[in-house]
Amino acid sequence: MLSFEQARKIILENISPAGIELVNLVDAVGRVLAEDVVAPWDMPLWDNSAMDGYAVRLADCGNVPCKLRVTGYLPAGAQADGVSVKPGCAVKIMTGAPIPAGADAVVPVEETEETSGEQVVLKETIKPRQHIRFCGEDVSAGEQVMAAGTIIRPPEVSMLASFGHALAPVYRRPVVAVVSTGDELIELGRTPATGEIVNSNTLSLAAAVREAGAIPRIIGIARDNRESHRVKLGYGLQADALVTSAGVSAGDRDLVRIVLEEMGVKQLFWKVGIKPGKPAAFGLKDGKPVFSLPGNPVSSMITFEEFVRPALLRMMGHSQVIRPTFKALLLDDIKNKESDRTSLLRIRLERRGERFYASISGKQQTGLLKTMLNAAAIAVIPPGRGFMAAGEEVDVHFFGSHIDLVEEAR
Ligand code: AMP
Ligand code: MG
Repeated sequence: MLSFEQARKIILENISPAGIELVNLVDAVGRVLAEDVVAPWDMPLWDNSAMDGYAVRLADCGNVPCKLRVTGYLPAGAQADGVSVKPGCAVKIMTGAPIPAGADAVVPVEETEETSGEQVVLKETIKPRQHIRFCGEDVSAGEQVMAAGTIIRPPEVSMLASFGHALAPVYRRPVVAVVSTGDELIELGRTPATGEIVNSNTLSLAAAVREAGAIPRIIGIARDNRESHRVKLGYGLQADALVTSAGVSAGDRDLVRIVLEEMGVKQLFWKVGIKPGKPAAFGLKDGKPVFSLPGNPVSSMITFEEFVRPALLRMMGHSQVIRPTFKALLLDDIKNKESDRTSLLRIRLERRGERFYASISGKQQTGLLKTMLNAAAIAVIPPGRGFMAAGEEVDVHFFGSHIDLVEEAR
């Protein structure tokens, strides 16, 4: 059987970025820049004051305190054309205003005393060029300030905006169709009768698509017959990617793979050596990825997390598509019945001092949803480890919102 790592490798080898679009800067946050950005001009564009104070000539200020005549005023937004600092004089200047001709330092207002508005007394010694932001000091015209592949955060937005870009070229968010399958499923809105199950997978998968940054398109439920599968999967295949839930095991009603194949989806794998999630399948239709996930709610979420999410991130141009992985020490013994597969255990994480500790978030059967609510991470137990003792180290993939911090008694 294909290993966990081989399966993910096959998926990622077959995924490429989904195309480029221009979006406004605020909508670009969290997206991946698709082109290098080169500075169209120097930044700052002209020498300007870093402080509210006085523009002065260093040569006049050798001995402090010294008295200068105030001959002008430059607030932010003013032009310095025609304004200059003559010997023995100073120009009052506000932060961001252009440095007038003749000045080679700015004295902050806190280090002065103004007498009558016409004269100023400087109290502190002055260093050459102090408190001036020089033209091109931050960025020079023509310099590459950002490379394609950069994730846009508020600082990137600031840089793009400073250079007058209203729009940013980013990788497109793929539209991801979600199809659930099963005769037992009912939609939200009524209490299930015996034998019925509320279609929760559609919503958890759509939410996971949204959380990854892509656009979910809910197609609905395919019933356990070929015709219904053909209709729903047909709609699903119009999206940029398709995720299905259930109907992918070896039961005689498990039609997803069969119908997908009839519809031209080339299957690249079926069955992976993981627990939960063994029946997962992956295929391609005209280059578009098709993920067939198992129906148990936990299995569908875990396989989404480990297989679909990295693929969607790659489609959106991300280079780091795997969750941060680190080592944690087990707080519980783990008895692993099916140790021929990689176990993906739902765990809680705690930090005590410098170390992370993993504890099982509850019973690990895939039908049990609550362990997922309590889990902050997935512990990856390699095949062949039938028993692991408390204190042993495991790799964990952090996907939660927080790690409990345990304050130890000193
Ligand atoms: P299957 O792979 O079709 O045999 O389904 C496996 C299990 O997952 C069954 O217990 C189903 O009832 C459950 N299941 C399948 N689809 C969904 C769904 N959309 N929402 C919640 N549970 C589901
Ligand atoms: Mg089924």
